[in-house]
Amino acid sequence: MSLTSFALSVRVSARQQRLGFIRILLSSNMFSNIFNGALTCLKTRSMALSSPQSSAMFSEVKVSAMVVAEMKNETTLPVVETFHSVQGEGFWTGANAFFIRLAGCDVGCSWCDTKHSWPMNQHPKCEILALVESAIAANPFMVVITGGEPLMHDLTLLTREIRASGLRVHLETSGSHPLSGEFDWISLSPKQFKPPLEAIYPLANELKVVVDDAGDLAWAEENAEKISAPAVKLLQPQWESPVGQQLAMDYVLSHPDWRVGLQMHKFLGVR
Ligand code: SF4
Repeated sequence: MSLTSFALSVRVSARQQRLGFIRILLSSNMFSNIFNGALTCLKTRSMALSSPQSSAMFSEVKVSAMVVAEMKNETTLPVVETFHSVQGEGFWTGANAFFIRLAGCDVGCSWCDTKHSWPMNQHPKCEILALVESAIAANPFMVVITGGEPLMHDLTLLTREIRASGLRVHLETSGSHPLSGEFDWISLSPKQFKPPLEAIYPLANELKVVVDDAGDLAWAEENAEKISAPAVKLLQPQWESPVGQQLAMDYVLSHPDWRVGLQMHKFLGVR
């Protein structure tokens, strides 16, 4: 086979594969999630490119990032959504933050408010470099990588490149998967459904325990024994649990080393 006909056959085969993939998408209830996520990726990229300042900065990022990415063959991550808002939870509540919500979680909390993020393959893969671009373009105080459970992915490249741009990088995790990446702040929210790995405890800057029933208070203390002394300890009532709210309030009033943590964004009705 000549080089030209070989190239042609590869192109035809690739086209057939794409058509097959589109047919599967159209016949699947995954389509909505993937389509919305793809829009997120496109929106993200156009936001980034609209900023001259970020374009110049990004051209430098691109060179170093591409070298690493090509070596590791990891240039994308599955993304549920990206958005610019204020941090609604934890010590940094109210801070200007750009959020990257990655897909995939195998923890299975019954009261999870982001269940749509669980299936990794129902969300589009975005280029890591486009995510870095969009974070820079938003010009936030910090970038929050959340999920799902973001540590189901290798965050080395994403965090390294965001930090190289001068932005802080925060992580929100259950700690149930090995840590990857470089962070300025780690918010550990341990879940009894799938407990954290021991290695994450001394690295946590804050411990955020969701309180739904009385058993969660014992779970909170069990985890508090493992974190480092300066870490902030928060009891965060489960949003739809009046019992959890009362328990957290009462516990903090009798245990001054703990704080009540509320989900401010839900009160404000924002993401
Ligand atoms: S770890 Fe987080 S994303 Fe995963 S099920 Fe629990 S609350 Fe939901």
